[in-house]
Amino acid sequence: MDYDEYRKRGKEMVDYIADYLEGIRDRRVFPDVKPGYMCDLVPKQAPQQGEQWVDVMADVERVIMPGVTHWQSPHMHAYFPALTSPPSMLGDMLANAMGCLGFTWASSPACTELEMIVMDWLGQMIGLPAEFLHSSKDSHGGGVIQTTASEATFVCLLAGRTEAISRYKKTCPDLDDAEINSRLVAYCSDQAHSSVEKAGLIGLVKMRYIETDSQLSLRGDKLVEAIRRDRQKGLIPFFLCATLGTTGACSFDNLSEIGPICREEEIWMHVDAAYAGTAFICPEFRHWLKGVEFADSLAFNPSKWMMVHFDCTAMWVKNSQTLHRTFNVDPLYLQHENSGYAIDFMHWQIPLSKRFRALKLWFVLRSYGVEGLQAHVREGVRLASKFEEMVHSDPRFEVAAPRHLGLICFRLRGDNQLTEKLLKRLNSNGRIHCVPASLKGNYVIRFTVTSTHTRLDDLTRDWSVIKETASEVLAESHAPIQQQLKKTMLAETRRNPVFGTSLLLANSPMSPKVVDGSYVAIFDNKDIITGLCQEAGALPGRPGPKQSRGQATQPQALRRRVRGMLMSGKQYSLDSRMDIVSTMANSAEGEAEDHETSGERWERGCQTPSRWKRSASMVPTGPDDANVAHLMIDDVIQEDDDESDDSDERYHQRIRETVARNACRKCGNIVWVK
Ligand SMILES: *Cc1c(COP(=O)(O)O)cnc(C)c1O
Repeated sequence: MDYDEYRKRGKEMVDYIADYLEGIRDRRVFPDVKPGYMCDLVPKQAPQQGEQWVDVMADVERVIMPGVTHWQSPHMHAYFPALTSPPSMLGDMLANAMGCLGFTWASSPACTELEMIVMDWLGQMIGLPAEFLHSSKDSHGGGVIQTTASEATFVCLLAGRTEAISRYKKTCPDLDDAEINSRLVAYCSDQAHSSVEKAGLIGLVKMRYIETDSQLSLRGDKLVEAIRRDRQKGLIPFFLCATLGTTGACSFDNLSEIGPICREEEIWMHVDAAYAGTAFICPEFRHWLKGVEFADSLAFNPSKWMMVHFDCTAMWVKNSQTLHRTFNVDPLYLQHENSGYAIDFMHWQIPLSKRFRALKLWFVLRSYGVEGLQAHVREGVRLASKFEEMVHSDPRFEVAAPRHLGLICFRLRGDNQLTEKLLKRLNSNGRIHCVPASLKGNYVIRFTVTSTHTRLDDLTRDWSVIKETASEVLAESHAPIQQQLKKTMLAETRRNPVFGTSLLLANSPMSPKVVDGSYVAIFDNKDIITGLCQEAGALPGRPGPKQSRGQATQPQALRRRVRGMLMSGKQYSLDSRMDIVSTMANSAEGEAEDHETSGERWERGCQTPSRWKRSASMVPTGPDDANVAHLMIDDVIQEDDDESDDSDERYHQRIRETVARNACRKCGNIVWVK
């Protein structure tokens, strides 16, 4: 394509984009396709000769659009927003054309300098203390654009680790880095995003999930307790990730309580405000930032609510020297005359290269101005509160957590499975799209209202779709629970589209998720078994193997499980470890009657004790869902790995028994399977 044609095609593309976005309300928000849908629509090999542009473009509507979830649609309420805007798109168009990589100052000085400037602007706009800014004379602070909030959390965890290790080396010079690393422990709340767990996994540090209060907020007292317990065990607390605006319910950790504790204990406090950060442009929402002066780092995603399209995560640190120490490598080919005098962002991030993302941020900030962005946030919040009123107006529904900003969590009163059924039905007819969360054992539908296209009449329309669908679900929901547990062959579950959807929809934290080989991570067997035994020892009334060596009190399942693990030679993630522990707790308890009468477990309906709630999500077993439960217990069943002659039929029998044993007779939820 020459530049004459580029001029023509480029203008056509801009028109196509404007038409797409203007007309997006009329498209089905959630696509109706099955995995592999695209294979039949495109050739098996790349073309030998170049094709005509018109033919390429024609395939966008034919091949691509049928499989697109339209994130900019006013009927998109899933996850958090990932907004775009014309100035943002134009910014990237230019950045893409220049195609420069800003890893050092010299690799493209404008990249680095504009990034410093817009990050200072943005930091001031959300009311960050001056220590976080490049322009601050009294600190080594500053902001950098990272690709994602996940990466920001990981980078800060690594920085905290560097600090902790070098501090401990001063007092214990004989210890090597790996020994100190193995004693490090990090904290977050039970509501934290899964990316925090992931940061711990790949940073090879223990992650402690601290129970939140009734408002789903991490509080000081619980943190102090956890730190004390860990210090008694000889562990080294070093990092805490606080969340402002959790993914489940947009709850806020209490920075002014946990901040001073972190400072006192020399714990690096990182603040993950991925979604809610944008709201801090409005002073009326900054009360949640109280205590941020104790933070060592903070990140939020302008790529969520601020209309700077993905990717763009704004991250600030108070002391960039720690980042340097963590990431410093200095090969000759990257040195330049001004090395040391200017910022080289390669030392602030994991990859070497970085795109010129500051440009789209700059364009958005200048096009909307602070006031324009404030108006955008306030409109989103106003619409959300309107939707909340609609939910309140129908007694069949309840708002399941206090609404904050643009996120409403609601559910049908009654069993979790009603709400799950409702959600599946809504998503499968594609007129609106939402995802679930599990809040303290309650299955809820998350509904975010933030698209720049959303109007009040869109929400009214969406609410009537929800109400109608709820009426259908409620009318159908009187089948007895035991009949709903139906037999499903293993092979079937593997290609069952319903199961696929469940998995897809389950990627918000705390919602049911499947534990199988894909969670296998980098913990070695010894570690997991030690942990396992400790946890088992901590179970009330059930002495672990240490105390009970040689006695018959050790649960049968534990022995078999451990043996299975040893024989399989697999490695297990933290998640799986928790699963195993809860599985053992379950099998030690025995029959379903015990579940019903065990006071601790069944307080408030079918809740699980909070210390295991990360692992013991409840999985409704409605007619469509036997599969989910089925796959989840796949992991449990492996405790009999060593019986290699297990036939398919026996295997299925075992699965059915496990499902039956673990279903609560009152609500039909599977408990303790994970
Ligand atoms: C969205 C979100 C994340 C993950 O964001 P990425 O940029 O996709 O890594 C992390 N934490 C919270 C609280 C979020 O809402």
